[in-house]
Amino acid sequence: MPDLIVSASAPQAGIAIAAAITTDLVAEIRSRHDLSPLVTAAVGRLTTGAALLGVALKGSERITLQMSGDGPVGSIAADAWLLEPDVLGARGYAANPHADLPLNAKGKFDVAGVIGAGSLQVTKSHDVGQPYVGVVPFYSGEVAEDIASYLINSEQIPSVVALGVLANPNGVRAAGGVLAQVLPGADERAIAALEERALAMPPVTKLIDEGADAHALLQALAGPIELRAHRTLEIRFSCTCTREKVEAALLSMGADELRSLADERSESEASCEFCKKRYVFTADELRQLAQRIA
Ligand SMILES: [Zn+2]
Repeated sequence: MPDLIVSASAPQAGIAIAAAITTDLVAEIRSRHDLSPLVTAAVGRLTTGAALLGVALKGSERITLQMSGDGPVGSIAADAWLLEPDVLGARGYAANPHADLPLNAKGKFDVAGVIGAGSLQVTKSHDVGQPYVGVVPFYSGEVAEDIASYLINSEQIPSVVALGVLANPNGVRAAGGVLAQVLPGADERAIAALEERALAMPPVTKLIDEGADAHALLQALAGPIELRAHRTLEIRFSCTCTREKVEAALLSMGADELRSLADERSESEASCEFCKKRYVFTADELRQLAQRIA
């Protein structure tokens, strides 16, 4: 079962819904970054949130979520963009991939503890014009509620967000989530419908664990509400790094630093922080870069 995201609207009820299964995506991020199970849960939730918000992307638009807290993981980030008209690319990152804490009082991953106190920044880049940036303080640090807090405080959109990652030391058993938002122009009844469905829906982690696909998640949230299908996108791990971007990072080290690196070894490696792809530079290539600065 490939990772999939589906979206639908319920014009009668005044809400829009999206549901995603992101198991393969989160497993890929975990293995590339060697994330601890707790950080897998944190980054997995955030990347699933980026995919859910990304279901409405068009063209070269891009959405980036960054949670910067004072907990052991440091900051975590995720972004999503369209690779093809019906394929969503996504990636995730953690400053301290091995951060770990005991389970919380409820016996669950202490995602709020590992992220700490801080703020969520959401950046939406469009085809033209300046990107839109919204920043909100964490609501709980559990990710889903923080995204909902962003939507109501920055975009005035009442929403329900539920994200789930089942991770263990051997990998990722399942991951996914749902997002329901009040449609523009909808009235109070839409908010009531949203709240009613949020209360009626079983925990998303339970549904995913029982093998629900994206359509089943969508239906579990919608319940009896009639849906009009919108979009179905495949989700794929991807990265937008290039050798040119890595060169730009190397240039920022300065000419002296590059020359001394070139003197020390015949080959140097730089890796992309998002996908861990390695870029090799020979001593001569580093000296040529240093010349560009001078
Ligand atoms: Zn990369």
